[in-house]
Amino acid sequence: MCSKFIKLILPLPCFFEIALPSDEEPNVFRATAAPQTIACPICAGATVCHDRVLRRFRHGYAWHIGVLWIELFVPRQRCKDCGCTFTFDYGLGLLHSSTEAFRLEITKRCHGRSIAEVAREYKLPYTTVERWFYTYAPNQLVEEEAQHICVDEFALRKGHNYATSVLNAATGRILAIVPHRDQDTIETVLKKVTGKVQTVISDFAPAMVGAIQAVYPTAIHVLDRFHLVQFFTAAQQRRRRYLGEAKKQHKARFIDRCLARKPDELTEEERLFVQQWLLEDFHTKHIYEALNHMRYVLKATTKGQASRRLGDWLTRYQFHDCGVVAKIAKTVVLRKEAMIDTIQSHLSNGIMEGTNNKIKLIKRRGFGYRNDAHLFLRLQLETGH
Ligand SMILES: [Zn+2]
Repeated sequence: MCSKFIKLILPLPCFFEIALPSDEEPNVFRATAAPQTIACPICAGATVCHDRVLRRFRHGYAWHIGVLWIELFVPRQRCKDCGCTFTFDYGLGLLHSSTEAFRLEITKRCHGRSIAEVAREYKLPYTTVERWFYTYAPNQLVEEEAQHICVDEFALRKGHNYATSVLNAATGRILAIVPHRDQDTIETVLKKVTGKVQTVISDFAPAMVGAIQAVYPTAIHVLDRFHLVQFFTAAQQRRRRYLGEAKKQHKARFIDRCLARKPDELTEEERLFVQQWLLEDFHTKHIYEALNHMRYVLKATTKGQASRRLGDWLTRYQFHDCGVVAKIAKTVVLRKEAMIDTIQSHLSNGIMEGTNNKIKLIKRRGFGYRNDAHLFLRLQLETGH
């Protein structure tokens, strides 16, 4: 019964017998291998044991006890035919003082946590855990096929370095990441996706549009609603400094939040404030109206409805007196076809925002990464559900 339990917590090949630990060292288990013939790795000939060394290896972990060690004789063999000598490790992947099973287990524990935290918990040197993680983790990446993908850029260091990522719109998993954000980069990252891609979601940047048309000429290009709404909210925030009265009474963030929300999500009091601010500044009023009109356009369900509503919106704002709104309308009119696809598409970019948030968290958890490849590996491992 007891030995069965030990075999469960310390899985080893069946030819091993595991003895109970001593009272002095309750975390060391002596393992004895049954005699077996060991073939030469070079000529497959018969070998003889000419030496053996008793060594200890980390192999498991138990609460309250800590790391569990196995102790075994590691044989040095000599080939009778070719004279080659080698150490035989019973397929345990013995390296320094751990078995491969242990190293893999520690690598798995690093998911969603920092390496430093895992190293502390298992009382292992930080550099050791780091080395294990970057040795084994790349093999744990699974390839995922996708039909609907989002392509987006994110900052490695704001204002300096950027990277472009592609993610599966269905699962939120990052499928590929490449540093930089020019059109060639976007094409490279898009080409890495496997599967029959039907829809590509991106922001309004011309480089994005060019790359998507080059790599997936038949795919439907959907524009990211979040970025569209952001044009308006960003314009609103730039306009805020002209709101003299409102600024005196309210915090900037409160004003931004009230103006960015949908009117029906505001409280009665907030709605009254918004009405005052709209009276105070001509541009604020028009940006606000244009945003909510655009929200109405985005709610259209059929193609006819979508193009009619979008047409109305453009007629109203394309040559508007308020320059900011006219400028947004100019961007929209350039992507009119994609906009109509966007309105009809059921694909939401919520998953993209979720993943972008996760990227931020992972970056922060590591206090920034010196090695971008390491960050990319982490991101690919830990996004998606
Ligand atoms: Zn040999």
